[in-house]
Amino acid sequence: MTSRGLYCQRGDFYIDPWKPVKRAVVTHAHADHTYRGNEIYLVPKEGERLSRIRIDEGAAIETLPYGEVRTINGVSVSFHPAGHILGSAQARVEYGGEIWVVSGDYKLTPDPTCAPFEPVKCHHFITEATFGLPIYRWPRTEDVMDEINGWWRRNVERGKSSVIFAYSLGKSQRILKGIDTSIGPIFTHGAVERLTQAYRESGVDLPPTTYAGSVTNKKEFVGSLVVAPPSAQQMVGWLRKFGSYSTAFASGWMMVRGARRQRAVDRGFVVSDHADWPELLTAIAAAQAETVYVTHGFSHEVVRWLREQGTNAVELKTHFMGDDGADLEPDEA
Ligand SMILES: [Zn+2]
Ligand SMILES: [Zn+2]
Repeated sequence: MTSRGLYCQRGDFYIDPWKPVKRAVVTHAHADHTYRGNEIYLVPKEGERLSRIRIDEGAAIETLPYGEVRTINGVSVSFHPAGHILGSAQARVEYGGEIWVVSGDYKLTPDPTCAPFEPVKCHHFITEATFGLPIYRWPRTEDVMDEINGWWRRNVERGKSSVIFAYSLGKSQRILKGIDTSIGPIFTHGAVERLTQAYRESGVDLPPTTYAGSVTNKKEFVGSLVVAPPSAQQMVGWLRKFGSYSTAFASGWMMVRGARRQRAVDRGFVVSDHADWPELLTAIAAAQAETVYVTHGFSHEVVRWLREQGTNAVELKTHFMGDDGADLEPDEA
């Protein structure tokens, strides 16, 4: 770990660096993993469209499909599906028979908008722990989607539109994939529309959506579903055009008592793109690593638990709880 991020000295590259470096190996396109300003990027091929949007079209972005090996200064690097969002990967790094795996963000819950998490055996496993407490156990996605569809249906009956706040990259598309399109039309905030289009261009089939900004007759919004990023909750003028509406927030944090009220929304739906407690333990066990490094979120608690079970675990401090990150991570989750 260096002041710029996780560094492989032998290969002279960084994984998800937070300060500009010469060569960045990047696990996925979320803002707290993909920073601008690096000279050369290596990203999973499956996430190329999203990376180009996040970085910029002209950046030096090299791609590597899941499972293929690229040799960087004699070090073998490959990407393996993390199941987190489209094109998200664990980075596997091998040199002289020693294997490291950096999980990035991941989940084991099935998600039809991305490839499923693939366990990768290694000597050293670096795992995230965003939701690393036993209280975090996600309900089945099908059940949550039933709740969301039910909420939307009831709002239609009451002549209201339904505004759901969800992180624009990953969460929004996962919700769109599970929504019952027979209930009514679906409108999107610009950020959601752009990324949803990138998903379609990457081969993910999603229901038709209309950019809300292109609508001139406000009556079209009555009974509709509006998908918007959490930041749109502050845009009072933007929300007003939807007339009478109900609000909801989709996030793993909605499991926490009082979170819905704190967010000041009518409904909270527990949908997370991160591993819950059982998933974390499953992924850690599957890696069969001799050392487990834990980062993000409840790393301290996960390390303590693993040590009690006789696993060699180490807390890996990331620097970075920067201003952006502190805001982004809960929304992303
Ligand atoms: Zn992420
Ligand atoms: Zn993250």
